Amino acid sequence: MTRRRWILLNPGPVNLSPAVREALLGDDLCHREPEFARLQARVCQRLLDVYGLTAGVWSAVPLCGSGTAAVEAMLAAVPTEGRVLVVENGVYGERMGRICAVHGIAHETLHLEWGEEIPLEAVERRLAESAFTHLAVVHHETTTGRLNPLDALDALCARSGVALLVDAVSSFGAEALSFDALAACAGTANKCLHGVAGLSFVLARRGFLAQAPRPPRSVYLDLAAYARALAAGDTPFTMPPQLHHALDAALEELEREGGWSARHARYRTLAARVAQGLAELGIEPLLAENESSVVLRAYRLPRGLSYAHLHDALKAEGFVIYAGQGGLAQRIFRISTMGELTLEDMDRLIDAFRRILPRAVR
Ligand SMILES: *Cc1c(COP(=O)(O)O)cnc(C)c1O
Repeated sequence: MTRRRWILLNPGPVNLSPAVREALLGDDLCHREPEFARLQARVCQRLLDVYGLTAGVWSAVPLCGSGTAAVEAMLAAVPTEGRVLVVENGVYGERMGRICAVHGIAHETLHLEWGEEIPLEAVERRLAESAFTHLAVVHHETTTGRLNPLDALDALCARSGVALLVDAVSSFGAEALSFDALAACAGTANKCLHGVAGLSFVLARRGFLAQAPRPPRSVYLDLAAYARALAAGDTPFTMPPQLHHALDAALEELEREGGWSARHARYRTLAARVAQGLAELGIEPLLAENESSVVLRAYRLPRGLSYAHLHDALKAEGFVIYAGQGGLAQRIFRISTMGELTLEDMDRLIDAFRRILPRAVR
């Protein structure tokens, strides 16, 4: 089989490393046999190890589904008497608000423009005004590339006696997380961890899982049920063994490469090469470097260049970039530097831009 090597600059699924691709060919397993239980336990331990979390305090709970499944399972586990303040400054914050609404979870939203900086004093004031038990926030808002100030939000929650719930789907494995007030965070296999799409996870304090509503708000996304089964070496539903093999290999690779901080440094180098190359062509980033994650950056479309044209011209050269969402669709494009990518790939990308731009814009 010959494979076309697309260079994926979309925020997941990412280009796989040879080791992760090879792992997909691992043993066929039954999800109710001890071989699978051992594989799953190893993956969970490796997930905790990424940020050095203690197994007695924290549980890693794998779920079958994309990142949204993990975010939804996390929020559906908010205690019956819980009240959540959801911060929205992009698509994924708004999705958390929708999830709370659908599940009938008592919540309010702090709604901001997409890409707007989170006003910390306003968050703290809202938490003080009303009896919220949880603050829900997206760490890296992939809508715009904005990295929300998790450290400050965590400290603020600790001061306010509020538990923090984080969508860390596009940051887990490549950005610094904070754990003081954290009750749970949601992540996925196929973004910064470089695994295969279809497996996601919630990392939760055992105390948070113990307070989950019973009966649960969802049958399939009942986080506490997964955690209970996991503790017994079992799983409530069929699990994908191949995706576990792949995530196991991906986490081993991450560890061997030096962990999340090494990956952070690597993404930073790749992203800086792209930003510099595009700046030389007059293409500006949407956000300043210190406001943006190292995982993905959004750029303003040059005047006179449509996204469709840019996308198709780059795709003809093997590069898949990513559109802006909603109202940003005609104004920006996004480039993620997750996955098995090299500096040479970035240089070839800039060369492709150089060839495409003069024809398109002038
Ligand atoms: C990718 C992503 C998700 C999950 O999206 P899926 O399409 O379910 O994979 C959730 N939150 C953020 C911040 C993301 O970047």
